Amino acid sequence: MQGDWDNPYLTMDKRYEGITVGAFLDLIEKGYVYKGQKTITWCAHCETALADAETEYKDISSPSIYLRFKLVNPKKEILGDLDYTKPVSLAVWTTTPWTIPANVAAAVSNTEDYAILQDSKTGEYYIVAEKLAEEFLKNTELDCTQAGKVAGEKLVGQTYYHPLSHKENPVIWTDFVTMDAGVGVVHIAPGHGEEDAQAGKQWKLETLCPVDEKGCYTKDAGVFEGMHVFEANPLMVKKLGELGALIKEQEIVHSYPHCWRCHNPIIFRATEQWFMSIDKDGLRQKLMDNLKNVKFYPAGGQERMRSMIGLRPDWCLSRQRFWGTPVAVLYCKKCGKPQVNHELFEFIKKRAMEEGSDFWFTDPVEKLMPENYTCECGSHEFRKETDILDVWLDSGVSWAAVLKDRGLDFPADVYSEGSDQHRGWFQSSYIPSYTLEGTAPFKTILTHGMVLDGHGRPMHKSEGNVTDPADVINKYGADI
Ligand SMILES: [Zn+2]
Ligand SMILES: [Zn+2]
Repeated sequence: MQGDWDNPYLTMDKRYEGITVGAFLDLIEKGYVYKGQKTITWCAHCETALADAETEYKDISSPSIYLRFKLVNPKKEILGDLDYTKPVSLAVWTTTPWTIPANVAAAVSNTEDYAILQDSKTGEYYIVAEKLAEEFLKNTELDCTQAGKVAGEKLVGQTYYHPLSHKENPVIWTDFVTMDAGVGVVHIAPGHGEEDAQAGKQWKLETLCPVDEKGCYTKDAGVFEGMHVFEANPLMVKKLGELGALIKEQEIVHSYPHCWRCHNPIIFRATEQWFMSIDKDGLRQKLMDNLKNVKFYPAGGQERMRSMIGLRPDWCLSRQRFWGTPVAVLYCKKCGKPQVNHELFEFIKKRAMEEGSDFWFTDPVEKLMPENYTCECGSHEFRKETDILDVWLDSGVSWAAVLKDRGLDFPADVYSEGSDQHRGWFQSSYIPSYTLEGTAPFKTILTHGMVLDGHGRPMHKSEGNVTDPADVINKYGADI
């Protein structure tokens, strides 16, 4: 038999949904799934978290601004003999003015020297990395002379006034402050950047994220409440100017991540999400090592996939969309705990296998658990999670929903897809299969290239540059 044409498999089949829900609950029971706050790539247009493989880079024009972060009582023992009646500021460069409300620190390099520049007209001081001072003066057209010098590590522990809130924030150091762009002082907003979030963890900084799922400011952003962040950019720059924080405004064209579905620029946002841990019990290393047991055509695919697994972050399994397979988890209304309970999970799995997963959305919460189900804290009141699962988990359990459920050979002889799926479907199939079954779902991975359009770009449904194979076949026959 070449194909079971009368019984195709669809991820929205009831039984398939049941198996997807079951796999997710099994991963929770095995301890691989956790709920955490993470700063992730977010599409404000689609209102959802995006996976690594779901962003694409394109050039856009952004404001490029230099700001004053004015030091609080600059320390004489650090900065030496300056005219302390004049303000001393860290100069900061950013292309995302809308993230300034979420600023909680300024980062310097602990291995670089910083120049203390004095404005010839006003007498005020600016601190920038010595290596970037010339570039800073050129771009800002300030007329300054160097009044002193300080090691970056000595600046750590100083505080400065937040330009909008006037809160005192600390100067920290991080590895990612480099000397190839900007001024060597980086504005840190853990709620709006991945590296910033890591620095925030390391320095125990607060995570502010005054931006909702539509990309609009919340009431925590004060006068900007309700405004879309990209629309707020010019107003933010204007406000910073009025407050005396703006040194210079320019435009810059730079490479910026976009959503692969709607092609709008994305933002980084701190959110509560469900994650699959890739590092629990050494899983990452096991996944990498076990690829030796899989044949790859072409052979280079093995190293490609191995290095991608080596670098990948935890898998964000939840999405905020209105349809899909549910994250079938209940929370206790009293103590807030997500319920991880074998009897409860078996109940949900059984219903999902028989009815599909829509009951999760349509039934009242009382019907989503066995009778008399009780939380450890004694409460009987629960609320349901409304997030859905990443569709990559849906397609990633086809080995269970198709091979195992239909009694076909498992692992499969061959998985075949385009070479872009070393990051996508091959991994989203491999990770749950290895974790739940102890084996890859495939014996062999065969990848192929892409059909290119007239401009040499790969044809993609989302790009709309696709030729329907049926048209070609009708005209030229199937051989071509
Ligand atoms: Zn989008
Ligand atoms: Zn409870």
